[in-house]
Amino acid sequence: MSEISNASEASVNTANLALKWSEAGLPVSTQFNDPYFSLKNGLAETDYVFIQHNQLRERWATWQGPFCVIETGFGTGLNFLATWRAFQQSNRQRNQQESAEENDLWLHFTSIEKYPLSKEQLTQALALWPELADLTQTLLEQYPHLTAGFHHLRWPEQRISLTLIFADVHDALKELTGPVHAWYLDGFSPAKNPEMWTDELYQQMRHLSRNPQPGKEASVATFTAASQVRRGLQGAGFKVHNPEGFGGKRHMLAGVYHAQCGPEQPPYFQQEPWLIAPNPRGSREVTVIGAGLAGCHSARSLAEAGFKVTLIDALGIAQCASGNPQGGLYVKLAADDKATHTDFYLEAYELALCSVKAQLGDGDEQNLGWQSCGVMQLASSEKEAARQAQFIAIRQPPSALIEVRDSGLFYPQAGWVAPARLCEALVQHPNIRFEQAELTSLNPTGRDDTPWQLCFASGEQRSASTVVIATAWQAKELLTDAYLPVKNIRGQLTYLDATSAPAMPHVLCANSYMAPPIAGQLCLGATYNLNDSNTELRDSDHQTNLDHLKEFGDEWQLMATHNKIVGGRVGFRCTTPDYLPMVGPLADTRPFAKAFKQLSKNSKQIPQVEAPLIPGLFVNIGHGSRGLVSAPLCAEILTDLITGRSSCVSRTILEAVLPVRFLVRDIARRKVPNDHYD
Ligand code: SAM
Repeated sequence: MSEISNASEASVNTANLALKWSEAGLPVSTQFNDPYFSLKNGLAETDYVFIQHNQLRERWATWQGPFCVIETGFGTGLNFLATWRAFQQSNRQRNQQESAEENDLWLHFTSIEKYPLSKEQLTQALALWPELADLTQTLLEQYPHLTAGFHHLRWPEQRISLTLIFADVHDALKELTGPVHAWYLDGFSPAKNPEMWTDELYQQMRHLSRNPQPGKEASVATFTAASQVRRGLQGAGFKVHNPEGFGGKRHMLAGVYHAQCGPEQPPYFQQEPWLIAPNPRGSREVTVIGAGLAGCHSARSLAEAGFKVTLIDALGIAQCASGNPQGGLYVKLAADDKATHTDFYLEAYELALCSVKAQLGDGDEQNLGWQSCGVMQLASSEKEAARQAQFIAIRQPPSALIEVRDSGLFYPQAGWVAPARLCEALVQHPNIRFEQAELTSLNPTGRDDTPWQLCFASGEQRSASTVVIATAWQAKELLTDAYLPVKNIRGQLTYLDATSAPAMPHVLCANSYMAPPIAGQLCLGATYNLNDSNTELRDSDHQTNLDHLKEFGDEWQLMATHNKIVGGRVGFRCTTPDYLPMVGPLADTRPFAKAFKQLSKNSKQIPQVEAPLIPGLFVNIGHGSRGLVSAPLCAEILTDLITGRSSCVSRTILEAVLPVRFLVRDIARRKVPNDHYD
């Protein structure tokens, strides 16, 4: 379990943030008795210490692919915004020198903060820098709720993303998987904050800086010149020097990681080998199969990262499960036993809200694509009420995120989305080309540059370098050798005439969900039919939905008994045994089983060998009925893995969504057939 996942809001110390404002209007921590930035000129200090001494401008002039920064201490976000501004300038210069297609530079900034400032405090602090006003506003629009854990923010048109982790530095670093190209060590002075500047910090830095691609070694810069920090960095493998400090300070520290410096360490350093992403491929073309929510989000995220995407679907865009007229954009969060689920869905939910707004605009009443009318998750039984109470007690979410009401939990920012409209908007990108075609098989070619041959029903054959399968449960039909324990679960919706229906300001959700009407119709459902592939509408399933309608309250009884049914729709969800999606590369089943057979004797003894993964093949499936929430984050995870960007989710979450988890688990449980080890 993650070090961060159990943390309640209180444990990131949002409540304890002790901050005062100096006479000059600068934020000062009373807890550490230290200002957040230089009293002389914080912006110039950031540029001097972190940007210049990590040589960012020089490196960005020729850098290929994602550039990843890790900062300790997000504070007011000044360092991040100053870096963003410098990156904008570098990117502009790059775009003048080379075509936008050649420039695939992307800045991924990860910042860790134990005592996050509120949005209001951030606004006040950053108002000191009018030159950053536009960027400040852009950041504030996505600044997350102050809940512990990972938050992923992104501005793809500017080729920049921010993973903001509200946690202690030491806990957060354990949850990162790298790569890192520049370290910003901020975080109050070592004398005032000795708990942050520990040996553990330097060890984690060594772990994350190791095994760089040639020419992409991590650099480090910090405002302090404390000898303890210098020794720590040297011990971690950094060659350090002492440039002059900013604004009259005698010295600061800067350096570069060299693998041969510092102590020996095993190549994987206690990391599960299957967590190491395959090396990014040279080609920047991707074929995505399946144009539902998972496929369209994947295509969009990859296109924004600079890939030319061919999106293929036999039926068209959003024709299967993603073709339901309305879906609830909200999450049913687990109580304590499934902390990783909650962490995943909380991060996914925040990103999904930003993403749907970016695609479909504000969710006002006129919007036919989505409406942020709120979702009421009713405590429709004693069991559900107890589950909700347990969740609230453990997580203590801020009421702006989840409000506790007498009748259940209310998600004020949530609402409903028309998935097909969202999919249509997602594919509107110059790097995405949609093709309606039926793929019949996918065959390995044995070639390094184009490892896949795609065969179509039309008889056409085509080679491909990177393929993403996003065809939900149908992935099994294409990937016959893969270890994919997914199931399809039938779901029937019932459409009701909304005339004389009770007023309905929010989406209601109990055993079924129902959104406020559109075009005079209510959409109620869906049923949950296991082992059932019937595509016909059934009266018995309409009746099940109507029975669930009664759980919405007394005012719905009449509607449930009078025949108002005007239609329905059958779809199939793709679910996994642990109800988390599957995103990432696939294991080469037999070689993988052989390489990790040892796990069947002792699951803690992980062989330190390279994990046999299939080159150039990824899946993004298993979203169940929560694709509206889970698909945007999974698309980002996928792009991180394909481009070699540092992950936007914790290592614990990454491990929990990688497709290979089921094979690993079943090897350990001795459930993998014997012939797989031959
Ligand atoms: N980089 C910031 C900026 O641009 O505004 C200023 C950073 S301020 C000098 C130091 C930050 O480190 C504070 O926000 C503080 O809460 C955070 N911090 C201190 N100890 C920490 C720890 N152990 N884990 C995470 N954050 C910590």
